[in-house]
Amino acid sequence: MNVESMYQEIILDHYKNPRGKGRLDSAAAESHQVNPTCGDEVTVQVATDDSGRLRVGYEGQGCSISQASASVMAEMVEGLDPKAAEEIRAAFLELMHSRGDAEPDEDILGDGVAFAGVAKYPARIKCALLPWMALQDAEVKAGITVTVEGETRS
Ligand code: ZN
Repeated sequence: MNVESMYQEIILDHYKNPRGKGRLDSAAAESHQVNPTCGDEVTVQVATDDSGRLRVGYEGQGCSISQASASVMAEMVEGLDPKAAEEIRAAFLELMHSRGDAEPDEDILGDGVAFAGVAKYPARIKCALLPWMALQDAEVKAGITVTVEGETRS
C-alpha cells in the first residue's frame, strides 16, 4: 500500500468512526464554522479542566475531509495543555499551506499527517482547516490565550 492510499484509509477511518464526537456537558465557549463552497459545518466546544487542560467536543456534517479533520483534532488536543494544542494547530496549518511538499512530522501531528495529500488541492484545504479554525475561535471566546514562539494571540 502506498503512502497516499494509506493516508486515504486513515481519513476514511476517522470519517466512519469519529473520535471524541459529541457535545461537552459544560462548555466554556463554542464556535460554529461553515465552509459554504463545500457545505461543511462544524461546531467546536472547548472547556478547561481543573488543571487547565483542554476539553474538546464537536458536532458537524459535511465531506469526509472536514469531518475526519474534526475527529483527528479532537483526538489530538483533548486533555492537552492549550500551548501544546496550539503547537499542533500551528503544525497542521503549516502542513496545509505546504502545497503537498512538506514532510509531516507524525510525532507532532499524529493522524494529521494523513492530510498531507489534501494540501495539494486548494479547494479541499478549507475543509481540513475548518475544525481547527473553530477550535481557535472557541478558545479565544473562552478566554484561553496561548503564546507560541513568535506568534501572540489573545
Ligand atoms: Zn469539505
